[in-house]
Amino acid sequence: MTAVRLDGAAIARELRTGFASRVERLAAAGIRPGLSVVLVGDDAASRVYVRNKAQACESIGMRSDVHVLGADATEAQVLARIAALNGDAEIDGILVQLPLPAHIDEHAVVEAIAAGKDVDGFRRENVGALSQGRPGFVPCTPRGVVAMLDHAGVELRGLHAVVVGRSNIVGKPMAQLLTARDATVTLCHSRTVDLAAHTRRADVLVVAAGGPKMIGADMVKPGAVVIDVGIHRQADGTLCGDADYDACREVASLISPVPGGVGPMTIAMLLANTLDAAERRAVRT
Ligand code: NAD
Repeated sequence: MTAVRLDGAAIARELRTGFASRVERLAAAGIRPGLSVVLVGDDAASRVYVRNKAQACESIGMRSDVHVLGADATEAQVLARIAALNGDAEIDGILVQLPLPAHIDEHAVVEAIAAGKDVDGFRRENVGALSQGRPGFVPCTPRGVVAMLDHAGVELRGLHAVVVGRSNIVGKPMAQLLTARDATVTLCHSRTVDLAAHTRRADVLVVAAGGPKMIGADMVKPGAVVIDVGIHRQADGTLCGDADYDACREVASLISPVPGGVGPMTIAMLLANTLDAAERRAVRT
């Protein structure tokens, strides 16, 4: 069996058409959705991510501002910038590009973002809301994975989903979302004994562990759906994921590539979260 490729870039393009219509409807109501991205320091990868996010906003007519602070900015300066953005009625979403320089307390910075503008869904209120199944911002990567599965028509109810990785921004919210969709979820991590024994039982395998090509074909159940969140730069300059794509696609039924899989879906969900916030602003005003 050769798996069908889950083309995240194409799905994201399709979603953006719908988003552009939502932006037009908001414009008719006098509202232009706005996202502010705060970048501290000059990490090359972060600069690329921030540029991609800003371009995605512009592509659907959404306003986006990038606030660049130097690598030596103090925590107080970062917090002051966030306070100003919290108070700006025309900004619907605030995102702080992580990681922050080591002298800044990431948790304090994330918690300083107004809960209603926390479009990354990292604040306590939003983490709690997801865990309790209440409305709130859902982190973009796991939301993008579910959107991708929905687009492919994967009926999650009753399936066994295995998530590899338990980070706060991917693995844990991923497991909660899949549980909320009535999948039976196993959450694996770096201390899991015999990872392959778990992954081989997965109908849906979501890998977000950060190990290049660590999932081989022998770790995938025939016919499984494989979603690869990992992203790594290889020695030859190309990108790869946590799954060995060429090998796993001979076993899986559906598989997301790297690049062009989860990455574009993550950015699409950032737009979706910001639009959701702008539509709430439209109702309030
Ligand atoms: P992280 O380092 O915060 O967490 C990794 C998790 O994987 C940990 O919970 C750890 O316990 C687990 N893990 C590590 N090695 C393991 C192993 N050998 N077996 C089982 N579990 C193991 O990483 P993260 O922020 O969750 O990101 C994971 C990967 O996804 C990275 O490659 C990152 O670059 C990528 N990522 C991609 C996107 C995207 O939009 N495509 C978004 C976020 C993260």
